[in-house]
Amino acid sequence: MLDAIQGLKVQNSFAELPPTFYTRLPPQPLTEPRLLHAQADVAALLGLSPKVFGDPAFLDVCSGSSALPGGKTLAAVYSGHQFGVWAGQLGDGRAHLLGEVLAPSGTWELQLKGSGHTPYSRMGDGRAVLRSSVREYLASAAMTGLGIPTTHALALVVSNDPVYRETVETAAIVTRVAPSFIRFGSFEHWAKAPDQLRALFNYVVERFYPECRVAAGGATAREEEVVLGVLRAVVERTAKLVADWQTVGFCHGVMNTDNMSILGLTMDYGPYGFMDGFQVNHVCNHSDTQGRYAWNAQPSVAHWNLYRLASALMGLDVSADALKSQLEHFESAFLQAYRGNLCKKLGLRQWEDGDDELIDDWWRLLHTQAADFTLSFRGLAQAPQQRAPWLAHFKDQAAADAWLDRYVVRLDREQRPDQERIEQMNAANPLYVLRNHLAQTAIQAAAQGDTGEIDTLLDLLKNPFVERRGYEAYAAAPPDWASSLEVSCSS
Ligand code: AMP
Ligand code: MG
Repeated sequence: MLDAIQGLKVQNSFAELPPTFYTRLPPQPLTEPRLLHAQADVAALLGLSPKVFGDPAFLDVCSGSSALPGGKTLAAVYSGHQFGVWAGQLGDGRAHLLGEVLAPSGTWELQLKGSGHTPYSRMGDGRAVLRSSVREYLASAAMTGLGIPTTHALALVVSNDPVYRETVETAAIVTRVAPSFIRFGSFEHWAKAPDQLRALFNYVVERFYPECRVAAGGATAREEEVVLGVLRAVVERTAKLVADWQTVGFCHGVMNTDNMSILGLTMDYGPYGFMDGFQVNHVCNHSDTQGRYAWNAQPSVAHWNLYRLASALMGLDVSADALKSQLEHFESAFLQAYRGNLCKKLGLRQWEDGDDELIDDWWRLLHTQAADFTLSFRGLAQAPQQRAPWLAHFKDQAAADAWLDRYVVRLDREQRPDQERIEQMNAANPLYVLRNHLAQTAIQAAAQGDTGEIDTLLDLLKNPFVERRGYEAYAAAPPDWASSLEVSCSS
């Protein structure tokens, strides 16, 4: 493990793409930045020991005051469909790529978010507020703890610099870490420029989908085969990602094509939410008045977004029909992952005919009673033995009891030892999720310079399946004041 950031091995492969892909420019540093928090396990991915957190050079890099040693700082261009409408050119409007770290665990891009104006800022100020930065910082760790693919957050730097949103807030910068921040929208941007599209495509294949270059029998695949193979892989990763979201009650909030990772990672945390009381059409983003990105719309939106990616790939001279046939794998890939997750959550060995009905009625039960998503699933493991504690999550206990009877009949068919089933279920149904009110409490404390809540939440969320004594409040349904919390795009 390295004790100093200067020891990192850094390369700049993205900067070696043609200059039309980005603008080289330094970040705009914050005034009197302070390192509010940093994560040892993300540092470890980079081969850094937590000792670096005390090194002033670490703060300089994470606050945008110095370049990453050996790194070429830049903002990347991309485009995208926002809320179903072509938005044209977007790009890193408040983010700077610092370079790529070559570590034993892999190659990792470091990117600052909230680091000032770029040519892609449009009307924005290039900044991110403390509130949204804490939310991204916590969510990245929460997803990792749940085993859901995500970008990571290494450091959270704050300052008193004012940022003007609905009210005056203060600025922060999150240092994000991921193998790549390339999005569907990066491809859409070059849909009508085959040379650039090809350069970007080859860049992504070489680094992330090299297996797609190999055709059946070990021969080198033709370009069309590579394109279809990559699209297939992205379809599968995206389908699995959304299945993971659905089965923990996560709503992304802004599933625009510019927020969809080409690697199937959860990225660009904004007005996301983990559901408390389940509503099938729950919308976490207050600005999403049409409910385009409601919980139950996420799978079809992901599919729609993959269509936009496939359309962009047509620029590589691949037939529309062949691309379309790759998109058809979405449904089966989604169902396989979704059912697999639900089997684990319900303690079933495998999916059977008739389980769809049991699950549909489960969602209906939760929805009609707005039962707590996390606690209803978590309590199910013990429910066949001890009905009362689980039934307490429901207003209409008779309806819940009737569903439980059917579930017990289904379990009986498996003849599975209870202990084994309960262990599997508790390893698949988290007890602690990043509920909005928990994030809010951590934000309020952080605004006073107190990071105790961030520490506590990270501790619980990194291992969300293990019950801890003394932390009952963190597992509980939200208090009344939480219902007035609103999150929107203004971050
Ligand atoms: P989002 O949906 O939050 O991922 O952002 C959509 C686009 O708006 C991206 O191109 C962002 O870089 C840009 N953007 C969002 N907020 C700001 C801001 N405060 N300043 C500049 N650009 C921004
Ligand atoms: Mg975005």
